[in-house]
Amino acid sequence: MNQIISSESSTALSADTVLVRKYLDRAVRPAVLDEETQKTYKANITQLMRQKNARLVAHYYTDAVLQDLAEESGGFVGDSLEMARFGRDCDAEILIVAGVKFMGESAKILSPEKTVLMPTLEATCSLDIACPIDKFSAFCDQHSERTVVVYANTSAAVKARADWVVTSSIALDVVEHLMEQGKKVLWAPDKHLGSYIQKTTGADMLLWDAACIVHEEFKVRGLADMRKLYPNAAILAHPESPSAVLEMADVVGSTTQIINAAKQSEKSEIIVATDQGIFHKLQQVAPEKKFIIAPTAGVEASCRSCAQCPWMGMNSLESLYGSLQESSNEVCVDSALATQAMIPLQRMLDFAVNNQLKVRGKA
Ligand code: SF4
Repeated sequence: MNQIISSESSTALSADTVLVRKYLDRAVRPAVLDEETQKTYKANITQLMRQKNARLVAHYYTDAVLQDLAEESGGFVGDSLEMARFGRDCDAEILIVAGVKFMGESAKILSPEKTVLMPTLEATCSLDIACPIDKFSAFCDQHSERTVVVYANTSAAVKARADWVVTSSIALDVVEHLMEQGKKVLWAPDKHLGSYIQKTTGADMLLWDAACIVHEEFKVRGLADMRKLYPNAAILAHPESPSAVLEMADVVGSTTQIINAAKQSEKSEIIVATDQGIFHKLQQVAPEKKFIIAPTAGVEASCRSCAQCPWMGMNSLESLYGSLQESSNEVCVDSALATQAMIPLQRMLDFAVNNQLKVRGKA
C-alpha cells in the first residue's frame, strides 16, 4: 500500500501551499558582504564565542562563510542528525544553530541544559509548515493501527506525536526494521522521500502530502538533457527529489551520504540534485572533480528555489553576530513537549549507534 493523503482536500491552492508562500515572501536574502567586512565579523564572532563558551553548528546548505566559521572555531558542519549529535555531546554552554527552525528545536530537545540560539527564528522549512500538529494528530488518530514515523523536518509537537523520528540518512533502515517486525507505517511529511522508502523497501506506508520546495524543482527532462552533455558523469540525488529524478540517479542518499559517494566515486564529473550549499563541502573533499548542479525549472518555468533553500539562505554573519551579542533568537521548547519528543528522537539515535547506515547505489 502506498497511499498519499493530502492534508487539504481542495483542488485549488491548498491552505498549506498558501501558508508556505507567505513564509517564502518573508525569506529575504541577506546583503552580500565584501571580504574585509566578512573577516571582521568572523573575528568578532569567534572572540564572542570564546567569551561566552558558545559553539556554532551549521548545516551543509548554509552559506560557505558560515560553514568555514563553524569549522575554524571548533564547531561543526553536518547534516541534521550529525548536528544534533554534536550539539548534545559538546561541552559548550551556548549552541548557535545555523540552519532552520526544526534543527534549533532538535538541538534544544537533545540539550535542554544548553542555551540554543539561531541567527534568525524566521528560517523554516516547507515540510514543517505543511504538517501542522492539529491536522497531523487527527490523521494519526484515524490510523491508530500504524507506527508513526516522521522526518526530522517537523515541529517539536509533530515529533512528540510520533513513534519514530528519522533523518534521510537513516529512514530506509528504520522502515526496513519496522517491516521486519510486521509493522505498517504512517509516514510524514515528505511524500517524495516516503514514496522512495516505500518503493525501496516494499513496506506498507500511508504518506502525508508535503514536499521540499527546493528538491521538488529538480526536473527529469532537464536531467536527461544534461546527461547527454555529460555522458560519463555520475548522478547523486537527495531522496526529497521527485521519483523520476531518483530513478536516474546512481546514488540516492542524505547530504552526508552524497558527500561520501562523491569522494569515493571514480567519476570525474558529478551531477548533484540537492541544495547548492553542499557544493562547498563537495569541492573541499574532492577538489579534482567537477560538480554540476542538476537542472531545476524547465523551459519558461519559474523556479522558486533554484536549488537554494531560501530559509537556509537567511542565516548570515550579521544575523549570527547580532544573535550572539544580544543572546537573542533563543529557541525555546516547552519542557513537557520536549520530554515527549525526546522519546522518538532517542529511539533514532540508539538505532543509529546499533546499525551501520547504508548508501544505496554506486557512483
Ligand atoms: S532544503 Fe527543503 S527540506 Fe531543507 S530546509 Fe529547505 S525547504 Fe526544508
